[in-house]
Amino acid sequence: MTATAPGPTRLWLAELAWSPSGGLRRDVLIEASGERITAVTPEAGEQPQDRVTRLAGLTMPGLANAHSHAFHRALRGITQAGRGTFWTWRERMYEVASRLDPDSYLELATAVYAEMALAGISCVGEFHYLHHGPDGTRYADPNQMGRALVEAARRAGIRITLLDTCYLSGGLAADGSQEPLQGTQLRFGDADATAWAARAAELWSGPGMPGPDARPGAAIHSVRAVPPGQMPPVVAWARERGAPLHVHLSEQVAENRACLAAHGRTPAQVLEDAGALGPRATAVHATHLSASDVRLLGESRSHVCFCPTTEADLADGIGPAGALTAAGSPLTIGSDSHAVIDLLEEARRVELDERLASGQRGHFSAAELATAATATGHASLGWPEAGDIAPGGLADLVTVALDSPRTAGAGTATALESVVFGATAADVRHVVIGGRDVVADSRHLLVPDVSGKLAAAITATLDHDHGRSGHWDGPDLP
Ligand SMILES: [Zn+2]
Repeated sequence: MTATAPGPTRLWLAELAWSPSGGLRRDVLIEASGERITAVTPEAGEQPQDRVTRLAGLTMPGLANAHSHAFHRALRGITQAGRGTFWTWRERMYEVASRLDPDSYLELATAVYAEMALAGISCVGEFHYLHHGPDGTRYADPNQMGRALVEAARRAGIRITLLDTCYLSGGLAADGSQEPLQGTQLRFGDADATAWAARAAELWSGPGMPGPDARPGAAIHSVRAVPPGQMPPVVAWARERGAPLHVHLSEQVAENRACLAAHGRTPAQVLEDAGALGPRATAVHATHLSASDVRLLGESRSHVCFCPTTEADLADGIGPAGALTAAGSPLTIGSDSHAVIDLLEEARRVELDERLASGQRGHFSAAELATAATATGHASLGWPEAGDIAPGGLADLVTVALDSPRTAGAGTATALESVVFGATAADVRHVVIGGRDVVADSRHLLVPDVSGKLAAAITATLDHDHGRSGHWDGPDLP
């Protein structure tokens, strides 16, 4: 690798800054050279106007969205109409999945990642399984969809860990057998885990890959989609690269039931036996766990990623966040199906859901929730040098207004509580990623009209392909 020249020196003066290592501090002078922070000086006092960029409000490290399926954004609203279950929702999701190609996915994902940047997200973990063409035919470049996602993140100015997802079977039958991929699922599949590993490796060996703002990761979709005997090649792929390994775990009771019937073990036990748990692992959802599952995850120091708005939207249930963190699992946050893209909302819901489930307040502090959304989330995505405001770290900053209708009147000492429990994505004013301004005054500087781009990309996706399946009418209205 050739050394790159250090980038320009920049200085910001944050009225208030909070970081996992420094806590809440006033008048914080943050200095960066290129993409790295070189100095952090609290109580810095007045600085020459022409020397510094002033950040009014509360500045935090950039937020890490540890679990995303970018194309689900097209379902927002549609799946809220009518009734249904997780499984009827999945049918709608498959229909959207059937409509995308590399060009339309690039447009949609760029818009979605731009929406994330506006919400203060500087890094996304994209749990990517939409690999192939309709009916499963490989594109000429079998990683064309993955490349589209990496390019989308670049265009939106955010970092990405592409969690290339192994997805081999259509589900677990009542008799315990793995069902074949069917319909849209054919797009998700590789012949076996060895074929998955070869394809996933090829993505990162091309010219210009991975690039400075993209990193590789692996995912086992779930015990529904990957038989236990096929897990070891995925585990080995991640281990050889020191890369993150993510997996959907026990999101639905039906998944646990089928797994017990098929394998005589819970999904967490299956993963443990396959060597999939550990500090590089993230169990997404972790909703319906036995006491021994909680122990397995905690003692292995596996991360857990909660996605509360999706878990509520899909009626998944409330996972044992408090028990998991007490057992040793670091907590991260994701927006998953993008029912909303608002990590502040996701973070506070972890605490609020715990209150509803337990009848008690005060499980996670604002600082613990903010750490989940910053340092821990980045670590789980393979970016340990991001998620803090400290010398040597990546210069990823998000500034939340303290003068919006939601945050006005915030006290200095409780500014973080005001932001975590009261602010929304709409209160994000500025976002710096790698020392570069990406959002200023709530405007995306690289994607000029994020709303327009989202509308165009979603309309194109849902109206696409009139000839085959006609216009998207959505579910029957109640
Ligand atoms: Zn998911």
